[in-house]
Amino acid sequence: MDKFSKKGIELNSESGIQEAIRRFFQDAEKIFDAVMLPMRVPAKDSYAWIMIKDREYLKDATPIAPIMPVNGAKALKRFTRKGEARLKVAALMRPCEIRAAVELTKLNQINLDDVILCSYDCPGALPMQDYISEPEAGEAKFQYLLDNDIWNSAEVKPVCRICDKFSLPASDLHFAIEQGKVIIIANSEKGAEILKDMNLPGAYLLENWDRSIQQIKQKRLAAKEQNFAETKNKIEGFEKLLETFSVCIGCHNCQSACPICYCRQCYFDSVTAKPNADVVMMKMEQRGGLTLPMDRIMFHTGRMAHMSLSCVSCGLCSDACPVDIPVAEIFSYVGSQTQQAFEYCAGESLGDALPMKEYKSDELSELKAILSDATAQEVADE
Ligand code: SF4
Ligand code: SF4
Repeated sequence: MDKFSKKGIELNSESGIQEAIRRFFQDAEKIFDAVMLPMRVPAKDSYAWIMIKDREYLKDATPIAPIMPVNGAKALKRFTRKGEARLKVAALMRPCEIRAAVELTKLNQINLDDVILCSYDCPGALPMQDYISEPEAGEAKFQYLLDNDIWNSAEVKPVCRICDKFSLPASDLHFAIEQGKVIIIANSEKGAEILKDMNLPGAYLLENWDRSIQQIKQKRLAAKEQNFAETKNKIEGFEKLLETFSVCIGCHNCQSACPICYCRQCYFDSVTAKPNADVVMMKMEQRGGLTLPMDRIMFHTGRMAHMSLSCVSCGLCSDACPVDIPVAEIFSYVGSQTQQAFEYCAGESLGDALPMKEYKSDELSELKAILSDATAQEVADE
C-alpha cells in the first residue's frame, strides 16, 4: 500500500510543536509505562536522555532537542541489551537514532519487544560546539527553525544538511510536522494498535505534507551529491587520506560517540594495538620514520571496514572530534559507497538482513573476477 494513502491524526498544536508532543505522551499515560526523551541538563548547556514514569516531569522535557549529545540508540541499548524492557517504553528519537536502533537490534544489542519507537520530522541538529559556546543563542536559533518551518538551514550540522532520511523512518509512531501543525501517523501495526487504543478523534490527509517532504528531500539529495563529490576529492587515495587525518590526535572520541561501534573490546584499545618500544623502533627502522601516535590511518580505515555498512550519518563523530576533522561527512560518504555495493540501506528496515550476517558464497563474484585478473597480471609480470 502507498504510505500516503494513509491518514494521520492532527494533534492540538496551539501551544507549539514541542507542547503538542508533550501532551500526546501525557494523554498516553495509560498506554505507555514510561517515555524516553531528551531533557535539558540543570546547567542548561546540554541535554541528557531521561526515562520518565511520572508524567509530571514531562513539562521539563524537550521532545525535539536542538542538539544530540548522545545517540538515542545508545541510551536504548543501556536498558535493553540484556533482554526486553518489561515495561512498555515509548522512545522518542530523531530518524537517524531510530535507524541506529534498527541496526543495533539486528546486531543483538537492542531488544525492541517492549519498546515503541517514536520519531518526528527532523529539521537537523545544531553542531555541539556551536551550542555549547552559546546555549541560549542555540535555543533561540533552533526554536526559530521549528517555528518558521525551516528545513534547509545552514545552521545545522553538515551531515544534517545532506540528510534525505529525515522523515518517517522504521518507527511505530511518527510525528509529522506541517507548517506548525503536528500530525501523528501510525507507521507499524504496533503503532496502529496504540492509536486505536487512544481513540483520538479526526483524520488528517497527508498529501500536502508528503509533497513538501519530497521537495525537501530533493534539495537535500542535490546537496548530498555535491558534498559527496567534494568529500571524495578530499580523501580519495592514500596521500589525501593521510593529509585529511594528519591533525588527528588519536583520541578515539569519534569511535566512543558512534552508536554503531558497539564492540565491548575494540582492537584499537587493546594491549595488542599498543606495541612496545621494540616494535615501534623496528617499524621506524623499516619505514625510515614514524608519526606518533602510530596507526591513525589504520584506526580510521579499520573503523570504516567494521561499521560503514551500518553508518546512519548521525554526525556524532564530528561533534566529538576536538580537531574539527569532518569525520561524519567522510564516514557518511564511505558508508554510502559500502551500502550501495551491498544494495543495503542502514537502518531502513528491520526486515532487511545485515549483509555481513547473511553472507552467501556466490556473493561478490565481481571481486572473484578482479582477483583472478590481478593474479593473471602478476603471472604475466613475472
Ligand atoms: S560513523 Fe559517525 S555518522 Fe556514522 S553512525 Fe558513527 S557517529 Fe554516526
Ligand atoms: S575524534 Fe578526531 S582526533 Fe579523535 S581519533 Fe577521531 S578523528 Fe582523530
